[in-house]
Amino acid sequence: MARQCVGCENNYLDFIAKYHRDNDASLLFLRNHSVLPVEVQCPHCKTQCHYSKDRHQWICSAWKSVPKAKRSKQCNFTVSDYKGTFLSGTRFEPYQIVLFVNHWLSKHWDHQTVIEWLHISERTCVEWHGFCSEITEHCLDNQEPIGGPGIIVEIDETHFGNPNYERGRLLSQIWLFGGIERESKKLFLVPLVEPLSRNCNAETLIPLIKKYILPGSIIVSDGWTAYQTISEHGYEHQIRNHAEYFVDPENPDIHTQNIERLWRDVKKWSKEVGNRQEFYKQHLARHLFLHKYKTEIVHHQFFIEAAKLYPPLSDKERQISIVIPANNNLEDPNDPSDPQPGPSGGNA
Ligand SMILES: [Zn+2]
Ligand SMILES: [Zn+2]
Repeated sequence: MARQCVGCENNYLDFIAKYHRDNDASLLFLRNHSVLPVEVQCPHCKTQCHYSKDRHQWICSAWKSVPKAKRSKQCNFTVSDYKGTFLSGTRFEPYQIVLFVNHWLSKHWDHQTVIEWLHISERTCVEWHGFCSEITEHCLDNQEPIGGPGIIVEIDETHFGNPNYERGRLLSQIWLFGGIERESKKLFLVPLVEPLSRNCNAETLIPLIKKYILPGSIIVSDGWTAYQTISEHGYEHQIRNHAEYFVDPENPDIHTQNIERLWRDVKKWSKEVGNRQEFYKQHLARHLFLHKYKTEIVHHQFFIEAAKLYPPLSDKERQISIVIPANNNLEDPNDPSDPQPGPSGGNA
């Protein structure tokens, strides 16, 4: 079985139309995104197992000789198709998984719709919400650094909420630090564990800058004291004067308009959850994921991340070979001029 990823630019409704109650199509989608194995090798005979659709298992039917008894016997090694994967242990049908994720990746997630629609219990729904969150939180925790020599990166910090009580629940301030490349809009966002205060910020922020921004970048920030030593760490630093403007009135090239725009988006996301710390990271991670991958590529990217975190048995030792085309244009499955991607394996 070759693995190929075609026709992934689905929106919410397309995805439902393609996969609703169609387990074969859903399984193929999951295999093409490396969530489920396309081949399994028998650990005893080192031969390829075959897949039994009825049993959802991979089975080795190789014959082994038993010298003492002077006869052969069949190996009969079996392993569940889901073993070790994102689907491990679930009793969901494949199409239910695929559509659960589809709903979870929509802007307007709600438990009730998915419970009624997929005929699942509230408990299963909460559990799967947690599994999906784990994928996006993993992405939040493992963001790639941005910038590079000569690349302009705008940075800023922000916070939401006031420490007070609302309906008996303690609300606390949420602090975020982030950066965005001015041209490509590549970005990172980090929720801060401790609130920033006027005097102990550089110890918090400089290590984050070094972690998330590549050396040689041109960093633009406001004139906050925490940012004063940036140029000592291998960056060019442009300081936007006049705290009340996002664009420096004396030099309009020095601005942080992109990061300000990002904060406006983040504030919109935050309205849904309020500023309850216990849900905030989960919530932020999901929205950041949706923001980064937009509709066309979000399903593709989610399942690729799930496959990386839970590689199927046969994929343990090899890189996942599906990469997103740089222009986000995936091949049109109906276009005969598209070369068919080769089998997976080898290096990405
Ligand atoms: Zn075997
Ligand atoms: Zn895809």
